[in-house]
Amino acid sequence: MTTGLVFHEIYLWHHTGNHANYVPYGNPVEPLQHIEGPETKRRVKNLMEVTGLINSLKPIKPRPATKEEILRFHTENYFEKIKGNNDKISADFGISAPTGIGSFDIALLSAGGVIEAVNAVISGEVDNAYALVRPPGHHAMPDLAMGFCIFGNAAIAGFHALEKTPVEKIAYVDWDVHHGNGTQAAFYDNPNVLTISVHQDRNFPAKTGLLEENGEDEGEGYNINIPLPPGSGVGAYEATFDRVVIPALNKFNPDLIIVPSGFDGGANDPVGRQMMTSEGFRSLTKKIMKAADALCNGKIVMTHEGGYSAATVPFFAHAVIETLANQDVGLVDPFQNIIGRLGQQEMQPHQDNLIKSAEKLLNNIK
Ligand code: ZN
Repeated sequence: MTTGLVFHEIYLWHHTGNHANYVPYGNPVEPLQHIEGPETKRRVKNLMEVTGLINSLKPIKPRPATKEEILRFHTENYFEKIKGNNDKISADFGISAPTGIGSFDIALLSAGGVIEAVNAVISGEVDNAYALVRPPGHHAMPDLAMGFCIFGNAAIAGFHALEKTPVEKIAYVDWDVHHGNGTQAAFYDNPNVLTISVHQDRNFPAKTGLLEENGEDEGEGYNINIPLPPGSGVGAYEATFDRVVIPALNKFNPDLIIVPSGFDGGANDPVGRQMMTSEGFRSLTKKIMKAADALCNGKIVMTHEGGYSAATVPFFAHAVIETLANQDVGLVDPFQNIIGRLGQQEMQPHQDNLIKSAEKLLNNIK
């Protein structure tokens, strides 16, 4: 079992400036750091170094995505606008997506890193891969930066796979606590790409990610949103995967599974209100791997999205990557016992009702 890891120090140099969480500073808001900072991702890599897990991973070298690759999803106007601000100390291209000096270059390397992860998995160089990239991508729209995302890394890598590799069908399983609206938009009318997003109901974006958004035209039935109620714990997530996500994958039969992997569904996250744990994320990873083994020779590419609790995110990511790599380095997550025993970790009736509604969408996959 070989798991690839995409990482580059310069991902951490994408500078999102002084905000209080995501609100720009200025009286009455005292300057603080932007919530989408380097620390959560740096600490994922640091923890993997300290435990030794990183030694069992195969490094995949990122390279900048080309303009042609970016334009498979984004408009030229948008591309040029971000390029033109590459030397600006700070800019914001849309809805809460600040950039700093060099952010265009770093965003290209982020998208290109996910493309190279796909190449490594499809070529068989590795069995699966985790792209620890930054800036994240799943909110980015063709002509609009959103939610800390500049280029749609996962969508761009998917378009690349469809055009440049033997892959004909891709399934996305986005477990970030926010709706994967950009990936949804990229493939909304495409029956060869199943986009699934499991997220907190109307967190961000405010008005998308509803059950009713089920795809359009030929792609009708091939977008599944599961907007879990706030407060959902491991029980609700596991039931969602057992009853909707995995059956959808089985019915769709993809050649490749891409997981936009955000850890803001974890308990303690400052911008999410769910209660996932490292063992919860490990369990979801096992479920996807089992399906991937049966459907597509285990081909999974995960790409890092959100997750803003610097203390806990490294343990969530470590559990996922350790599982992908079929390793056990003996790490005990000190947060697991605390957040794992929170009340209502087991599925609640109102969560069950939502999952029941989502189960009906399985009928729309032909
Ligand atoms: Zn998120």
